[in-house]
Amino acid sequence: MELGLAGKNALVTGGSRGIGRAVVLALAKAGATVVTCYRQEGEAVDSLARELKEIGGEHLLVRADVGTVEGVERLMEACRSRFDSLDVLVNNAGVISQIPFSELPLEEWERVLATNLTGPFLVIGKALPMLREGSSVINVGSRGAMAGIPLRGHYTASKAGLVGLTRSLCKELGGRGIRFNVVAPGVIDTSEPDELSEEERAAYNARYLRMMALGRFGRPEEIAGAVLFLAGDLSSYVNGETLHVDGGV
Ligand code: NDP
Repeated sequence: MELGLAGKNALVTGGSRGIGRAVVLALAKAGATVVTCYRQEGEAVDSLARELKEIGGEHLLVRADVGTVEGVERLMEACRSRFDSLDVLVNNAGVISQIPFSELPLEEWERVLATNLTGPFLVIGKALPMLREGSSVINVGSRGAMAGIPLRGHYTASKAGLVGLTRSLCKELGGRGIRFNVVAPGVIDTSEPDELSEEERAAYNARYLRMMALGRFGRPEEIAGAVLFLAGDLSSYVNGETLHVDGGV
């Protein structure tokens, strides 16, 4: 059996850095045409564009914030300009935040949910007319959604919500032959924890490395591998699952 991604159309949110970038490149290398989005212009976007050009194909990078209705509309307009249908949709864009629950303002709760949960809701909703039998939707969740993470209740709530949405949509839309799954990364070496001070970072690393059976953090490419599996033909009977990719926590 093969991945079967050559010639397929894919949309990946949040592709300019980290896990999203690895997913975009892996899909492009597998022969898919990719549309992706980001919020900030800069070197990350330029270098992704250069790498995609080297791989070849008609990929498209769009500045669009999936935490807003306007951003999702702009993204989907770009997507429709390139594709008639969508074979793979990866809701990857996500923001992290760390605040004691007793100090968590409603604005911060809403900011995190806007990108991490309302974003996928809006993107899937707008993409629905383009999804067809055989399409695969992959939502990037988090290992923390099941385990819980102190100071990140709003983040883990958003990711747990994504699991509920995924499982419900798998049942609601399975009859149309559309699959919905979650990839739940453990701790992956990306820019995500960069908001921490040096001291907090050292404590974070020590705490999490102790939990990893493999004794190391994951690489974005190792999440992209799981996404590729769920995107392609090798997983054609996998539906409504959460695939934990966490080095054995
Ligand atoms: P990064 O911060 O490294 O990259 C996030 C990417 O998403 C960037 O390209 C960013 O673009 C984009 N993005 C963020 N918010 C939006 C938005 N509202 N609209 C459009 N694009 C957006 O994150 P990671 O690669 O670390 O994380 C990717 C996903 O994996 C997230 O959903 C995260 O929660 C999840 N995850 C990550 C883990 C980790 O250890 N890294 C662990 C568990 C889950 P820009 O820079 O322009 O904002």
